[in-house]
Amino acid sequence: MTTTETIAAEASVLAQTYAPLPVVLTAGRGVWVRDVEGREYLDALAGYSALNFGHTHPLLVAAAEQQLRRLTLTSRAFHNDRLAGFATRLARLCGKDRVLPMNTGAEAVETAIKVARKWAYTRRGLPDGRARIIVAEGNFHGRTTTIVGFSTDPAARTGFGPYDGGFDVVPFGDAAALEAAVTPTTAAVLVEPIQGEAGVIVPPPGYLAAVREICDRRGLLLLADEVQSGLGRTGHTFACDAEEVVPDIYILGKALGGGVLPVSAVVADHEVLGVLGVGEHGSTFGGNPLACAVGEAVVSLLEPGDIQAHVRRLSPVLEDGLARFEALGVLRHRVRGLWAGFDLDPRVASGRRFCEELQHHGVLAKDTHGATVRLAPPLVIDEEELVLLLERVESALLALRRS
Ligand SMILES: *Cc1c(COP(=O)(O)O)cnc(C)c1O
Repeated sequence: MTTTETIAAEASVLAQTYAPLPVVLTAGRGVWVRDVEGREYLDALAGYSALNFGHTHPLLVAAAEQQLRRLTLTSRAFHNDRLAGFATRLARLCGKDRVLPMNTGAEAVETAIKVARKWAYTRRGLPDGRARIIVAEGNFHGRTTTIVGFSTDPAARTGFGPYDGGFDVVPFGDAAALEAAVTPTTAAVLVEPIQGEAGVIVPPPGYLAAVREICDRRGLLLLADEVQSGLGRTGHTFACDAEEVVPDIYILGKALGGGVLPVSAVVADHEVLGVLGVGEHGSTFGGNPLACAVGEAVVSLLEPGDIQAHVRRLSPVLEDGLARFEALGVLRHRVRGLWAGFDLDPRVASGRRFCEELQHHGVLAKDTHGATVRLAPPLVIDEEELVLLLERVESALLALRRS
């Protein structure tokens, strides 16, 4: 089928919850993907950072292939011989001692919410059913009914009530406002260290450390949603590392599955995760041996720290490139590691129009919130490819200014 036929076939049968760029992909390797017409593109979205290690990474494919032939699913009704190894190495990577494996990011967020509530009732003695969690404006934590209930994005939230009332929304990046929102029934703070979907919004320096200090002083759990910011994206294993902040709970997903399959996890210490007892939480696919094999291979790629160092080395190249584009219609830009958000002058183009133009220049990227574009190529990108990516962004900006 051609691109046009495939897109028409999708439109006739799929719920219209996405508006993809008009490209139909069929193969990928590293940072490159190929469409059904044989055109090659540099993937600057990387599956919203699920593909931090690139497409079809040999080590991840091998781990999956080997496990695929042996055992793929046991459910947690039985033990399997891959779960302990994965969990041990993941816990060590996080500096924690307990892991609760799930599948998607939203499930891991839901898990952390349940843990925080149970912890508040059993460890802090809050009256049952009263625990509240502080979240940030502009958050993105997934798409479940509980989670969209505390989203501040009307598209994500409107029409899906009634909403769970147990959340208080405060401005992102304002520690004083956060502290002012703490009440005797506050159990936890749930925050993205850097807001990905909002457009790679970086909080002011010292914010995370201040939130950590508030949580310590007020007896709250700090739940860091590192689903998108974690696992190397910022040049650190976790975005929290940049401020030497250790949350009580790491919420992980996306890249944990290596772009092969959904793998997520909540990682914490026993004094926190130990509040859940037998039968109180679970998932049919959580901790399946195939996911564990891939997840352990992902952890093995992060353990030596080389990929994080590579990201830190290339980050200035991305930063310098985007700084140059301020003369070409980029109003603002934000870079952490190999993660960038930039806001286009609406007179040059909308984010969507820019991404369509960029596609013609051989780069796939995604707009967010109208005028913002995110660049998040696989972390395995080399310097030459990154320079090429920036040249293509520049060509697209120039083409739009001419039109
Ligand atoms: C993508 C994302 C999620 C949700 O992950 P899914 O796997 O899509 O459910 C949660 N939190 C953050 C920060 C994300 O970027």
